Amino acid sequence: MKTIAILGSTGSIGTNTLDIVERFPDKFRVAGLTACSNDEKLEDQIRLFKPRVVALSDASAAARLRRRCANLPVDILAGEEGLIQVATTPEVELVISAIVGGAGLVPTLAGIRSRKHIALANKEPMVMAGKLMQDEARRHGVRILPVDSEHSAIFQSLEGHRIEDVRRLILTASGGALWTVGREELTDVTPERALQHPNWKMGAKITIDSATLMNKGLEVIEAKWLFGFDADQISVIVHPQSVVHSMVEMVDGSVIAQMGVTDMRHAIQYALTYPERHSCQLPPLDLTAVSGLHFEAPDLERFPCIKLAYRALTEGGTLPAAMNAANEEAVNAFLNERIRLTEIPQVIETVMNDHVNQPAKDIETILEADHQARHAALAAIEDPIRVHP
Ligand code: NAD
Ligand code: MG
Repeated sequence: MKTIAILGSTGSIGTNTLDIVERFPDKFRVAGLTACSNDEKLEDQIRLFKPRVVALSDASAAARLRRRCANLPVDILAGEEGLIQVATTPEVELVISAIVGGAGLVPTLAGIRSRKHIALANKEPMVMAGKLMQDEARRHGVRILPVDSEHSAIFQSLEGHRIEDVRRLILTASGGALWTVGREELTDVTPERALQHPNWKMGAKITIDSATLMNKGLEVIEAKWLFGFDADQISVIVHPQSVVHSMVEMVDGSVIAQMGVTDMRHAIQYALTYPERHSCQLPPLDLTAVSGLHFEAPDLERFPCIKLAYRALTEGGTLPAAMNAANEEAVNAFLNERIRLTEIPQVIETVMNDHVNQPAKDIETILEADHQARHAALAAIEDPIRVHP
């Protein structure tokens, strides 16, 4: 029996994780759950999974939940301090990190520092503070296991191989909702259109990141910190069918790929049961139903976010944290119809150009870079002249 806590249990990854837990009642026990403000969904989860402690970032949502769950044996906490308490609950062995955005960094790091293994879906903290998270994981003897489908695929493809035999990692990208949309037309894309992902059903932020291909940029940086390869050993290829989840090319030219259906529960289950595998009742991959496997190079002119991510990775320091923060603010502004989709990379580039880069030496420095970059991004969003220099 593994005791787990889920940070971000009401989201897409969170609910898929609980679906796996339900399928294996003798393997997992849920000790803690967290959400941002969705107290109604969290209440349903409390009644079903009976965690000992939960937390909501939003204090008024926590107060509502406390009133409704007064007769249940559960501690209901609030704010970031509450999220940290859930992540560090003594009996928890594995924390599923599934908050969206930089908000997951502090609680996930707290989990690592209290010796919890991490199943990592929340890629933004790895982008902001990958070295720090891995250093802390090593120091505390815990593993950060990938949940992101590409990284799970690489993790599985690397198994049994010597790292020095690997030439490069090849991340596949679906291309997102707008891969076939022309440059001119991209300017007028609405949030509604950009949210129509062809293959995956996910939260809004990552769906927009998929449409701009920033998701792949974030994943390149995530791959660097999960697997220890340099930028020039990590490449991206567009594969619209999302059957091949990613690949590893060996020095002798052999390519090892991991394939599967487009259902995140496979990658989540592997991170939960690792190093074991268990049969799951999900439909298997039917290759005869796949019309063909198509691969093409990413178009970096139409989708410049990937270039920005490589630049952030190569320059290092606090620049990836600044890039990530600017992206979060720009995506939010696009979803609220304050900027165009094509202005997202412009906002990010403006913030990156103005960022005073520093070594990412500790969490305080990284959080300060995040804070300043959000400020700068909001200024760029408000000031169209800065966005269009
Ligand atoms: P989502 O929006 O569906 O869910 C996010 C969860 O985090 C919710 O439980 C929400 O309550 C919580 N949350 C949001 N903002 C918060 C805040 N400020 N403080 C505390 N909690 C907060 O997102 P998702 O699609 O499940 O994605 C979660 C993470 O997993 C993201 O980093 C995403 O990039 C990554 N990921 C998701 C998928 C997927 O299929 N959805 C696949 C790969 C990676
Ligand atoms: Mg992914």
